[in-house]
Amino acid sequence: MSLAPADSVSSSARPRIRFREKRGGRFLREGAPWAYLDEIAFDRRTKALPPGSVAVLEDEERRPVATVALNAGTQVALRMLDPDPEAQIDGAWFAARFSAARDLRARLIGGEHYRLIHAEGDGLPGVIVDRFGPACVVQANAAWAEAHLSALLEGLDAALAPEVVVLNDDSRLRALEGLPPGRRLVKGTLDGPVEVPQNGAIYLADLLKGQKTGWYFDQRPNHATAALLAKGGRMLDVFAHSGGFSLAALAAGASSALAVDSSELALDLARAAAVRNGFGERFAAARADAFGAMTRLAEEGARFEVVVCDPPAFAPNRAALEAGLRAYRRTARLGAALVEPGGFLMLCSCSQAVEPEALREEAWAGMRVAGRRGRLVYSGRAGADHPIHPALPETGYLKTLAFQLD
Ligand code: SAH
Repeated sequence: MSLAPADSVSSSARPRIRFREKRGGRFLREGAPWAYLDEIAFDRRTKALPPGSVAVLEDEERRPVATVALNAGTQVALRMLDPDPEAQIDGAWFAARFSAARDLRARLIGGEHYRLIHAEGDGLPGVIVDRFGPACVVQANAAWAEAHLSALLEGLDAALAPEVVVLNDDSRLRALEGLPPGRRLVKGTLDGPVEVPQNGAIYLADLLKGQKTGWYFDQRPNHATAALLAKGGRMLDVFAHSGGFSLAALAAGASSALAVDSSELALDLARAAAVRNGFGERFAAARADAFGAMTRLAEEGARFEVVVCDPPAFAPNRAALEAGLRAYRRTARLGAALVEPGGFLMLCSCSQAVEPEALREEAWAGMRVAGRRGRLVYSGRAGADHPIHPALPETGYLKTLAFQLD
């Protein structure tokens, strides 16, 4: 597939595009940063533009209203790049966005480990950048970003001067945009996992082989809450990945933590990080299917002061919603059975299609089947390094609930 050439075209020579009559309302009147294919008045010429082409959006009176990116080969066919119809999408343009995102994190998060760019929330539709100190992992999950990759990397260099840059092209979103998968180092070298300091623990992330960008920054505030709940007690960390919840709990004084995950690679990083933190015998990890492991632990009579269940998205889309909700209920039932009286169950969902209220209902239903009662003591979302575009509440995908059980 050939993408649009980088933005060398002067804005006056750019293709022009309009919405079909009376369409585009979500974009024009509600301020949404994208529009769907069937809303756009493509003609033969604009339909044939390479994916990721930059165009000028015009209103019904043919006045220019914004600089947008087009991809006629996908449902999200128009993406807002800049309210200025004359904007040049070059290195300086990217650098301005990266600098603003960095300054926001400096205020809200501190340190140098965070999600630097959360797509539309940071004004770069479809782009994810995670920062690990001197290393950055970039996901260009939209055709326009791939087409402007050299300007993007130039802007990143100008704003942050990273020593290492990994391009991570494994997101399923890229397939929807017709982009190929893969991972490669485009700057610097990496000799093994990198350290991620967070909530008093030091974690290890593998930026080349790990899941997603190598680390789940979104759970940071919820790791902190779980750590408070676990102080002095035992934690069971189910769907643990590299120990996000369990190592924070141990750093905050939990007596022990058991991490369960199906990925040996993720657990090896958790084990190495536990040694690095000096947690010794307090940490254990088991590679197992989460449902089987929780069932076995219950049969053995194991109980914990805190049980965290942070599964992958059980409802990755609306079609999977019913089955997904049942899976959250089952997870809550199995988890609740393992909580000591007075202890806590934390249930997380990263499914965009699952509303917070729906998760609370499934959690409560699962707890009742397990014969448990209790109270909701905490509702968390992704951390402040995951800003949400006000017109796209659905991008606030993460929900984390904690219940105290009687
Ligand atoms: N709790 C982690 C993030 C978890 S992501 C954190 O705070 O950083 C979801 C995890 O679930 C992944 O690590 C994945 O390997 C694991 N997983 C997926 N299906 C599983 C299953 N059936 N049993 C156990 N683990 C599973």
